[in-house]
Amino acid sequence: MAILKTEAIVINKRDFRETSLLADFYTRDHGKIRGILKGIRKDPRKFASTVEPFSRNEIVFYKSRTSTLHLVSQCDVKDNFTAIRQDLNRSAAGSMIMELLDAVMPQEDKNEEVFDLTVSVLERMAAASAAEKLLIIFKIKMLALSGFKPNFDSCVSCDSRIGGGEIRFSLSLGGLLCSNCPRKDPKSRAIFRGTVASIQYIQRNDLQNTLGLGLNPQIKKELYFILDSFIAFHLGKKMKSQAVMEQLQVPAATV
Ligand SMILES: [Zn+2]
Repeated sequence: MAILKTEAIVINKRDFRETSLLADFYTRDHGKIRGILKGIRKDPRKFASTVEPFSRNEIVFYKSRTSTLHLVSQCDVKDNFTAIRQDLNRSAAGSMIMELLDAVMPQEDKNEEVFDLTVSVLERMAAASAAEKLLIIFKIKMLALSGFKPNFDSCVSCDSRIGGGEIRFSLSLGGLLCSNCPRKDPKSRAIFRGTVASIQYIQRNDLQNTLGLGLNPQIKKELYFILDSFIAFHLGKKMKSQAVMEQLQVPAATV
């Protein structure tokens, strides 16, 4: 059994038996891992963290060779991101980020870029940058960094580069259709050129630059619709936190 130390974001936690907790972590060095924190509910001072979802911690764990559940012996909070938790919109956006990490990222598969992206987005969210914009940026960048690799540069049907003319989004094909291919999916819908340009801009620029990007309400609404449909289509289910977001001020994917 190897003893490992790494930075970890708490994805979620739930009670286990009388005194313990099970938690999913997104770690810098090992990707997503599941840990058990024994006795934490009986003696909360045993760990220097309350293991809140989307808090950043340093953990020490014993990596089991025979199971995907590992014993966490130490968990020290480094940043609790309290400011996110105190605000409904930011908290809902934070929960969606955690749900996405859980649903999209494979177990125990290191992806340092996804870890760094998550920390940067949470830091900016805590520092009061717009939660809705950060969530959009997170989704676009995380999908590009994960195995999903949606391609918003070319047509899903003929693979030609998205050029002039009407651009349509096909939910069943999971991408964009160029002006020559609208009949490939009669249920596809026309989308704004500005929406496509925003996605391409976010994919090509770093987080700091993309924060300056202006998104009008129509484009924001369309981005929510496209990203959430894309994710739901590939996962085969709607994200739970999406329903919460739709009830808050964040524009709902109602189209
Ligand atoms: Zn085409």
